[in-house]
Amino acid sequence: MPTRLLIHNGTIITFGTPCRVLEGQALLVEDGLITKIGPQDTIPGPFDKMIDAGGQVVMPGLVNAHMHFYSTLVRGLGKMAPSATFQEVLDNLWWRLDRQLNLDDVEMSAQVVLLDAIRKGTTTLVDHHASPFAITGSLDRIAKAVKVSGVRASLCYEVSDRDGGAIATEGLEENAAFARRCAREGDPQLRALFGLHAAFTLSDATLDRAAALGRDLGIGFHVHVAEAASDVSANLQEHGLTPVARLHAHGLLGGKSIAAHAVHVTDADIDLLAATDTFVAHNPQSNLNNAVGIADLLKLTARGVRVGLGTDAMTVNMLEEIRVAMWAQHLRQDHPSCGFMEVAGTLFGRNPELASRMWGFPVGTLQEGVVADIILVDYHPPTPFNDDTVLGHLIFGISQATVDTTICAGRVLMEGKRLTIDIDEPALAARSRELARKLWDRF
Ligand SMILES: [Zn+2]
Repeated sequence: MPTRLLIHNGTIITFGTPCRVLEGQALLVEDGLITKIGPQDTIPGPFDKMIDAGGQVVMPGLVNAHMHFYSTLVRGLGKMAPSATFQEVLDNLWWRLDRQLNLDDVEMSAQVVLLDAIRKGTTTLVDHHASPFAITGSLDRIAKAVKVSGVRASLCYEVSDRDGGAIATEGLEENAAFARRCAREGDPQLRALFGLHAAFTLSDATLDRAAALGRDLGIGFHVHVAEAASDVSANLQEHGLTPVARLHAHGLLGGKSIAAHAVHVTDADIDLLAATDTFVAHNPQSNLNNAVGIADLLKLTARGVRVGLGTDAMTVNMLEEIRVAMWAQHLRQDHPSCGFMEVAGTLFGRNPELASRMWGFPVGTLQEGVVADIILVDYHPPTPFNDDTVLGHLIFGISQATVDTTICAGRVLMEGKRLTIDIDEPALAARSRELARKLWDRF
């Protein structure tokens, strides 16, 4: 890793609030941290490395607030029965798949998708893992892939009672073991959350055990919440509470926790999410794909909920997800021109906030003192480009451009559209196809 890296001759988009455009500024990275942003002639050398951006856009590495690495090997699999409901999607595909995963599949799934993340400029990922018949050690195997890739990731195991008590217990223990490892090692690339599948597959006893462990470990929870209407009806029927109210009753909401989806939430639920400062991860492509509805971003945001953007494994391309978020919200609101700031703010504002809170140091913006997660995007604005127009360029232009260079914590992972990490990609893909073929045979 270069100890003194200069990135010059680019146009900087800062992200954060306000999201600004800086023309004619260079960016100095020292020991993985952005230490100076200013005119190049004000930054004295020598430098170990200089990257000439060639007029490209320089942006922060992007954050994905909800991801499932484990679904990578399903690409192209066509064996499932047609699913008419969200529960059938789970029964016919995801719960059939994750039961067949072994630890090699788990590690490979992460390795493959993390290379894609580098290519798309996503340098921070919050993963939610399931492999109910290969739980113990699964998070260490994913962490191994994360270490090789050079990006940063928060990991957890999604505990569920759907496969019985022993497997639920193993899931609880896997979360705790990985959280202890993170606390012990203090590796800035890795963080832990306590994973839970969703309230409708968890008993009160398991929720209580998770709450006690998470509290002792000092970490937040990462859980699917009110993704489909069926999650709400099941919880109301069996427990007399909405998923949000039930998770709150067990002490699982809070400023360190992530509620993924929040599509089917009541006004009281929204107020609880806001009052507890629980972060919501919005995943529009997944919601559209599963036909479960679209979260009301305007209402959530207006009532004070922090809403960020995840992909739920549909992609690792955050710029693709943000575009879809925009169109989906227009349809949700039945209005073609509202929600622009609320949607754009998920990516440039809330996601950096989430990552910074989770990592305990500033992540996801280009400012002095922030960790050097930086991407260069091959985009040359054809219309005026400034603080007022930057978000329009982001949605309609930059999202369509190619990421050229990806840097995480000062380490160059891709330069000039070529991966620079030590990995034999064709060999990896061949091994991945072999594992996928075996997995599909078992499926
Ligand atoms: Zn998910």
